[in-house]
Amino acid sequence: MPRSRSVCYVKSDETTAADPHSAHSTCQVGLLSPCRCVEFCPPCSTTDAHSLELLQDFVSRARRLFVITGAGLSTESGIPDYRSEGVGLYARTDRRPMQHAEFIRSAKSRQRYWARNFLGWPQFSSHQPNSAHKTLRRWEERGKLHWLVTQNVDALHSKAGQKGLTELHGCTHRVTCLGCGAISAREELQARFVALNPEWRAQAGGVAPDGDVFIEDEQVQTFRVPSCENCGGILKPEVTFFGDTVNRETVQFVHDRLSESDAVLVVGSSLQVYSGYRFLMAAVIEKCQSPS
Ligand SMILES: [Zn+2]
Repeated sequence: MPRSRSVCYVKSDETTAADPHSAHSTCQVGLLSPCRCVEFCPPCSTTDAHSLELLQDFVSRARRLFVITGAGLSTESGIPDYRSEGVGLYARTDRRPMQHAEFIRSAKSRQRYWARNFLGWPQFSSHQPNSAHKTLRRWEERGKLHWLVTQNVDALHSKAGQKGLTELHGCTHRVTCLGCGAISAREELQARFVALNPEWRAQAGGVAPDGDVFIEDEQVQTFRVPSCENCGGILKPEVTFFGDTVNRETVQFVHDRLSESDAVLVVGSSLQVYSGYRFLMAAVIEKCQSPS
């Protein structure tokens, strides 16, 4: 039998999945074995003293640091990234994230998305910030870090207590209605899923950076998806799917925070997605135009 990753890593038996019917899942991270926590971390060499000195010097000199973070920051919390060699989602599977147009166009795609998301939620929502998230929070407390922009949708920066934070691509812990724009908590939607699907069960495997898991299509067909309680509209995670664009006002807001900063640090991102890369380009252009 091929080795497969289950939705939940609570027990050493990999076939044991978290129960998505529990709308209020308990925190399971404390039960993770250490090797599981680093399952999605790509191999890397030990940091050499010189590189560390350069980083320390860079951070020490910055007075108002602007930080951009990506999926690589959360791998040590047990969430895979997209592009890391060998361990990223793209290397391990042929799965690709939901496309915005497909979600809007197809009720079947939404049913598949939410069924998978429902199964993955208890584990995905239980992940906790790691030492990198906590370090960035400490920098903020000390007045070193001016603003943090994350491309992650896992809520780990807010769980760490980060205040000056823009979640550039939204957050999976919030749900938006495409009809009336109401925002609600994802945890509340889990309770509605449970109420609508009391008997529904599926075997799932392989969690993705956005909480998606893999299940067979035939398992999805009987899953019932609720609509907005206010207007009956379509519910969507408050996340910018691939193929969609980040809200203009949010982009301008981040540019304004960037222009108030004096140094930019990128953590855990290959910046291959334009929505984050543009801020680095803006910083470089600004520096080139600066008289000093
Ligand atoms: Zn609505």
